[in-house]
Amino acid sequence: MDLPVKNPSDTQTLTDSFGRQITYLRLSVTDRCDLRCRYCMAEDMVFLPKSDVLTLEEMLELSEAFMARGVRRIRLTGGEPLVRKNILWLVRALGQHVENGLLDEVTLTTNGTQLPHLAANLYEAGVRRINVSLDTLDEDQFKAISRRDKLDTVLAGIEAAQAAGLRVKINTVAMRHFNDADIPDLVDWAIGQGLDITLIETMPLGDVEGGRENSYLPLTEVKTTLNKRFDLEPSGYRTGGPARYYSVAGSQAKLGLITPLTNNFCDGCNRVRVTCTGRIYMCLGQDDHIDLRAALRSPEKRTALNTALDKAMGLKPRGHDFAMSDGKMIGKVNRHMSQTGG
Ligand code: SAM
Ligand code: SF4
Repeated sequence: MDLPVKNPSDTQTLTDSFGRQITYLRLSVTDRCDLRCRYCMAEDMVFLPKSDVLTLEEMLELSEAFMARGVRRIRLTGGEPLVRKNILWLVRALGQHVENGLLDEVTLTTNGTQLPHLAANLYEAGVRRINVSLDTLDEDQFKAISRRDKLDTVLAGIEAAQAAGLRVKINTVAMRHFNDADIPDLVDWAIGQGLDITLIETMPLGDVEGGRENSYLPLTEVKTTLNKRFDLEPSGYRTGGPARYYSVAGSQAKLGLITPLTNNFCDGCNRVRVTCTGRIYMCLGQDDHIDLRAALRSPEKRTALNTALDKAMGLKPRGHDFAMSDGKMIGKVNRHMSQTGG
C-alpha cells in the first residue's frame, strides 16, 4: 500500500475560520443498514445506487488526503459499516497507518449485528475500541425501535467483541415512550459488563414516522431518574467529543451524556463527516457541504482535494441550530443520520 503522498499544500493542517483544528474524520462507508431504527430511518428507505458510492480504494485515498492534512483519528460509520462488502480491506489498510504512526486510531460505530463473525477480524486489523448502538435490553422494545428481531445477535456481538479484546462503548438514543423506562436497567447492565455507556438526545435529522417531538426525551430528565439509582459524579474525562462524563460510584464505568438540544457543545468541535458518496459535511446539523468525489476523480486529484478541503474549512459553521422551542424541535436538517454518518 502507498503511503500518503506529500505535496506542498499537504503540510497545512485543517483549521476552520473559528480556529478549530480538524483532527477527526467520520467516514460513512455505506448508507445501507440491516436495521431500521425509527429515529434514524424510514422503513422504506430508498438507498443510493451502488454506482454513486465511492469504492473502498477511493475511501482509502480520501482518508490519506485527510491524514496528510493532520487528521489523526478515523471512525468508520454508516449506515451500518459492517454490511459494506469487503469492509475489512479498508479497516486493514487504515490499521496499517495506525501501525506506522500516521494515525492514532481507527474505530467504528456499529449496530453490532455483524460482530459475532467480524469482531476478531477487526481486532486483527488494528481496531482497539468500537461503539455499539443499543437502545434497550427488552426484546419487544428492541423490535419496536429497530423494526428487526436482532437483540440476541447484537448481545452476542458485544460478547464476541469483548472476547476479541475490543473495548466497547454503548451508545443509546433516549426516546420517550420507547426506552425511557429501560434506560436505568441498560445503564446497570453496562456497568455490570464493564462497558462505558453514552446516552444521546434524539436529533432532528430527516423526517420519521410520528414526528420527532413525541419521542424527544431531554437528558436532564433522564439524569434525574438515574440519580435516584446511581451515585453519579461529574468527571473531568474528555475525548474531544461532545459527551460530558460522569463516574458511577462503585464501578470503573463512565456514563456519557450527549445533549445537542439541551446544551450546545460545538465550541471545541474537531471533526468533519464524509458521506459514502464523498460529500464532506462540516457540521452534522447544517446543510453546507462540498463534493470531494469530483476532486478525487480529477487528474490532479491531490491538489484538487486540498483546494476542496481548504474551501470546506472556510465553510465550517460555528455550530448546529438544534433546539426545542415551544415544544417544537427547531434547526432540523433534511438528511437522515444514516446518510451523513453518525
Ligand atoms: N449503524 C451504526 C450504528 O447504529 O451504530 C452506525 C451509524 S448510526 C447512524 C450512528 C449513531 O447515530 C447510532 O448510535 C444511532 O443511534 C445514532 N443516531 C441515528 N439517528 C439519530 C438521531 N436522529 N438522533 C440521535 N442519534 C441518532
Ligand atoms: Fe441502521 Fe445505525 Fe441507523 Fe439503526 S442507527 S438504522 S443501525 S444506521
